[in-house]
Amino acid sequence: MNMDDIKKGTQCIWSGEEASLMQRATQVPVVHSVSFGYKDIDEWQQVALGEKPGHIYGRNTNPTVAVFEEKLRQLEGAQAVTSASTGMGIISSTLFAFLSPGDRVVSVKDTYGGTNVIFQEFMPRFKIDAALCDTTDHEAIEREIKNGCKLLYLESPTNPTVKIIDIARLAKAGHDAGAIVVVDNTFATPINQNPIELGADLVLHSATKFLGGHADALGGVICGKKELIQQIYHFREINGATLHPMAAYLLLRGMKTLELRIERQNKSAMKIARFLESHPGIEQVFYPGLESNQGHSIARTQMKGFGSMLSFMLKDNTFDAVRRFVPRLKFAHAAANLGAVETIVGPPATTSHVECTKEERAAMGIPESLVRYSTGIENVEDLIADLDQALKSVKG
Ligand SMILES: *Cc1c(COP(=O)(O)O)cnc(C)c1O
Repeated sequence: MNMDDIKKGTQCIWSGEEASLMQRATQVPVVHSVSFGYKDIDEWQQVALGEKPGHIYGRNTNPTVAVFEEKLRQLEGAQAVTSASTGMGIISSTLFAFLSPGDRVVSVKDTYGGTNVIFQEFMPRFKIDAALCDTTDHEAIEREIKNGCKLLYLESPTNPTVKIIDIARLAKAGHDAGAIVVVDNTFATPINQNPIELGADLVLHSATKFLGGHADALGGVICGKKELIQQIYHFREINGATLHPMAAYLLLRGMKTLELRIERQNKSAMKIARFLESHPGIEQVFYPGLESNQGHSIARTQMKGFGSMLSFMLKDNTFDAVRRFVPRLKFAHAAANLGAVETIVGPPATTSHVECTKEERAAMGIPESLVRYSTGIENVEDLIADLDQALKSVKG
């Protein structure tokens, strides 16, 4: 059976593993070897030149890392794949692999905080023009693409207000202008969204979040067109942000339950969003699964599930209300992370938008009392009861 054709739940378990299994082991080994030895000099040369499969040196490739990459490649239905030590490692490797002085990149204002810093701080230093558009203004994005675009960088859903971008529409606009189309698919996961099917050339993930799912390993991964992946691999191999084999093992172990976790988290987040929407202590809920949400109709066509990320604005729209509310939650880590089996909360002022002033956050449509909620796999009734009791602290 062709492994690319099996269903995702089966890919999570079986994809990519067989070639690495040693001495009848049923589990992928963590190969800690920095280099790989060849007595046959001709074979060594063929592997080094990429004419024959195999490994040479751990900064370039590693058997454990290769299994992790292959599993993700199959889940996203891509031609090729490579990885990096963190999500930002793969994002920076991708941007710097393709962009040169004088080039122009088009993206949106609501990209992940670190990505936004690359656009605003580092790109200008390399004389690369980054046009950042209002995230849901598709006409404005299309206009900027027509003004010149080497690389179109999208993210959907976004952080922290979970906005939805029409990937198929913008991928077409990007290709019409000759751009490389990249999508950060971290929030959706390959279970809920597959941007390659929607026309993207490259799809990346911070594996630190949902792929690993247990908040115990950092990693980044990108897949897509072979000739593009080769260039990103080359940049990362030389610049050195390599994924560690132990981290790859932890990520792989987490990915076994990816579909199970995401199916449950999708359902729980929907119930929580509906509960919060009808709660008197809540002013607004941001979740693409709600019919009232601005991105709902696009999300319905391009996503298979609405995900576990939501955010909400308290009726008492002050940071003081957040100070009272967040510590009262029993079943949520207050931490700068997301996508784990545990529920995690945090205000943008301490997580995604820590570098902005209060006024800048307001200008970006991020209210002071916004709380980002990454739904875990706990029992949803307990999560709802927990939110209910904590909200009692903010009514007044
Ligand atoms: C966390 C995150 C990143 C960065 O990943 P790291 O592994 O922390 O470097 C990129 N994009 C999104 C959407 C993220 O949530």
